[in-house]
Amino acid sequence: MSLTSILRVLLTRTRKPFVFTNRGDGHLDYEGAERLGLYVHIPFCRTICSFCPYCKVVYDKTMAKAYKEALLKEISLVGGRSNYPKEVTSLFFGGGTPALMLADIKDIVTQLKRYFSICEGIGVELHPDDVSEETLLKLKDAGVTMISIGVQSFDADCLAALGRTAPDYGKIFKAIRAVKFDTVDMDLIFAIPGQTAKTLTEDIRMAFENGATQISTYPFIDFTFADNRYRPLSELEKRKMLREITGYCRREGFERTSVWTFAKPGTRKYSSVTRENFLGFGVSATTLLKDQFKINTFLLRDYLDRIEQGALPTALTLRFSLRQRAVYYLFWSAYSLQIASSDFHRFFGRSLKGMYGFELALCRMLGLATKTEGGYRLSERGAYYFHYVEQAYTTAYIDKMWNICRKVAFPQQIVLKQSNIDGCQYKLRRIDVYTNMACLCYN
Ligand code: SF4
Repeated sequence: MSLTSILRVLLTRTRKPFVFTNRGDGHLDYEGAERLGLYVHIPFCRTICSFCPYCKVVYDKTMAKAYKEALLKEISLVGGRSNYPKEVTSLFFGGGTPALMLADIKDIVTQLKRYFSICEGIGVELHPDDVSEETLLKLKDAGVTMISIGVQSFDADCLAALGRTAPDYGKIFKAIRAVKFDTVDMDLIFAIPGQTAKTLTEDIRMAFENGATQISTYPFIDFTFADNRYRPLSELEKRKMLREITGYCRREGFERTSVWTFAKPGTRKYSSVTRENFLGFGVSATTLLKDQFKINTFLLRDYLDRIEQGALPTALTLRFSLRQRAVYYLFWSAYSLQIASSDFHRFFGRSLKGMYGFELALCRMLGLATKTEGGYRLSERGAYYFHYVEQAYTTAYIDKMWNICRKVAFPQQIVLKQSNIDGCQYKLRRIDVYTNMACLCYN
């Protein structure tokens, strides 16, 4: 039995599979959801990067116009289901390359504000090529308070290994100095073939010295459906690099704010993945609520058709059992390094100790977590093992699940079957095909 299977059975205390179906009943109760976030996916890119696993297509002006109209309609379909305006924490535009719809972002924000009151700001993911004073000023005008730049690396050889060329850094740094945001995040990838500890720490130094208030460091993962020329470095190398990142940031006085993010002290932190609940709009966007996790179709044409018919573009829905939901909750709380007992109790109406006292005591014994006044904090050791488990889930489940979703608009069912170790059956919509696949809900 694999690590992912063992953890799933231990924490959910059942051998029952996770079942995703396309029998979405349209039920979407977010009225009472606290700490609700919003996510909008913009799938267009100028060119496709070989390493990228996300849902994206090459930009097409006509398609982008149709997509904007569909997004506005999806927002009203979802937003109109509740008493509005509903208070939400934040809004994040991811992709793809959201700046390719720069002229539309303000209209999308305005449409969202009809139904939602955004309290903690608006974030946008940016390709380095799009970072100019003109673009940043337009984003500010649309209400954006946080930008996240997909730098990946400042090293030309590392960029080449990822199939990228170096952008005009002078222009980027000048624009960041000229137009201020509460948070400037730079994404950096580690364990790129050919990367060394020295080039990695140089990347971090460059980022912080040139306007980043925080960095997000992700390991290079070779998705089976990506078109990578090279394989990532070994697990041992990854571990060394993660240690190098944490050591460097500690020495330089940067604060670790999650397993993969580090920030300048006194700056506003931002994470797009640690919301208790969120609503997702657009192709491949996911929605997480107390009772369910749902995934929109990955296929653009099918998304547009569904919206045209006035229906939600949901491809798959997982109905959570209490323990499945608790595991999901704990996973992302652990990512932010803190598990607050009071938040857990507020969300589930059950005590954290009552549900997971044994597991938490074991984590403390193994040096993975420490007890704090309000709950638990992941130790550095715990953060490493979290990173390891996260990667195992990504390759065992997400890789397979995304691979299905990028080919089939509305799969009938995806079942994570315990009896088949990490096996999972899925049936295509029309053709009755069965195959062994492994998958799990994930945002
Ligand atoms: S890495 Fe960014 S720009 Fe490249 S294909 Fe993926 S979403 Fe598009």
